[in-house]
Amino acid sequence: MAARNVDFGRLITAMVTPFDKQGEVDYAQAGRLARTLIDNGTDSIVVSGTTGESPNLSTEEKLRLFRTVKEALGGGGKVIGGTGNYSTRESIELTHEAHDTVDGVLLVVPYYNNPPQEGLYRHFRTIAEHTDLPCIVYNVPSRTVRNMEASTTIRLAEDVPNIVGIKEAVDSLDQVAELMQALPADFRVWSGNDNDIFLKMCLGAYGVVSVASHVAGRLIRRMIDAVAAGRLEEARQLHLKFHPLAKALFPPVSPVASPSAVKAALNLLGFDVGGLRLPMIELPEAAQSKLRDLLATYETDPLPAQEVQHCQQCPLYKHALKGVPGEGDPGAAIMFIGEAPGWHENQQGRPFVGAAGQFLEDLLRSVGLRRDQVFIANVIKHRPPDNRDPMPDEIAACDAYLDRQIAAIDPKVICTLGRFSMAKFFPGERISRIHGVARRYGNRLILPFYHPAAALHQGSLRRTVEEDFKRLPAVVAEAEKLALSAAPTPPAVPEPAKPAEPEPKQLSLF
Ligand code: URA
Repeated sequence: MAARNVDFGRLITAMVTPFDKQGEVDYAQAGRLARTLIDNGTDSIVVSGTTGESPNLSTEEKLRLFRTVKEALGGGGKVIGGTGNYSTRESIELTHEAHDTVDGVLLVVPYYNNPPQEGLYRHFRTIAEHTDLPCIVYNVPSRTVRNMEASTTIRLAEDVPNIVGIKEAVDSLDQVAELMQALPADFRVWSGNDNDIFLKMCLGAYGVVSVASHVAGRLIRRMIDAVAAGRLEEARQLHLKFHPLAKALFPPVSPVASPSAVKAALNLLGFDVGGLRLPMIELPEAAQSKLRDLLATYETDPLPAQEVQHCQQCPLYKHALKGVPGEGDPGAAIMFIGEAPGWHENQQGRPFVGAAGQFLEDLLRSVGLRRDQVFIANVIKHRPPDNRDPMPDEIAACDAYLDRQIAAIDPKVICTLGRFSMAKFFPGERISRIHGVARRYGNRLILPFYHPAAALHQGSLRRTVEEDFKRLPAVVAEAEKLALSAAPTPPAVPEPAKPAEPEPKQLSLF
């Protein structure tokens, strides 16, 4: 039976479920969002909780979401599956089916059927006894009508070892005080409200299951860490700063129930999570406008896509449909840097999704890799019109994004795809001279490849690219073995050198 030593951390985010334009679950975006949350201070993620619109997801969708997020995090954060509902039997079934794709489950107080305290006790105990997963119960009387009283929670904490904690969303601080007076020390209480994290933590709560952490994870993290370290004045100041945003994401400040406002906030900040499924509706226009103004007063989390989507530092954005920031494993050992988005990338906002992307995926497969195990970005984040070559000022405008991506991912090996990304590291070099040979650059290895599109365009290059690619595993091993000294990385030179010899054409295949 799971012990209470499973650590879900102090900051848990109840994640929204991204939908595409057709209202279908956007699994790739869910994976990206989960990783972004972890990057911004979240420890564990609730998938398919009420914030994830669980009443509107099929069992199949829930299970696929659990798996997607688990894979996306790759152990870098825990997944808590929302598997509880108003039926004990259905909750047991879903918990059972989710078993291998989650690290724990969140079990909400049965809603609508309004059981008495003894019913609540037996409901949670019965589900927990049918699984070895750690279970967190969730008390949210504003949504379920029934309040789970402190005495019931305390009975569960004493009797059921794998009920490890409670997400307590009551407003009553008295109830939290009653809990803290009697709960076993290893039973955790997370606030279920963003507006009272500080107050509940002062009473002894361990942390929060947050919604606002989608956009203010770093701020919440600082506040939580300050309380935990006993720096109460600092935490109080952070609480006061955070409070208006915490209120704005929920009624009555928001005219509609969560997650409408937090989804609007993410969309406003450029992280596309789509709309909501009926009967939930999007935040009305006027409220969005107020939320936009409020968000502008915060240092919101750096959502990677956000700045690129709104970037106007060079004129390319004027002709482009979507910015293409890059995607992949943020902790990847290998990073690929291409040239610029082409037609397909511009449509989808994702790098290497056209013919060159297909070939890149084949090449990755040939060395036992999938694209979600590496990080893929470009020198340029918006599509140049007609796929023309990027201009030096466009490269310079995008360079800081690339440097920040490299710094955040900190890959052991960077594979440049084509001459523009090669020129970032080796200005003046020729791709025909240095392809396929890794060179040390600061504390990592750079492995220059021809651009995959060039190989597609010019058949004779295909073998060369395939052969070059075969060296990748050895280069990664070398980078790891060398335990390269942390020599400072020489400053990148944004101006790419035009090669003296004609380079293979690649543009028409983008
Ligand atoms: N070519 C690139 O350089 N980047 C892409 O994202 C796609 C094709």
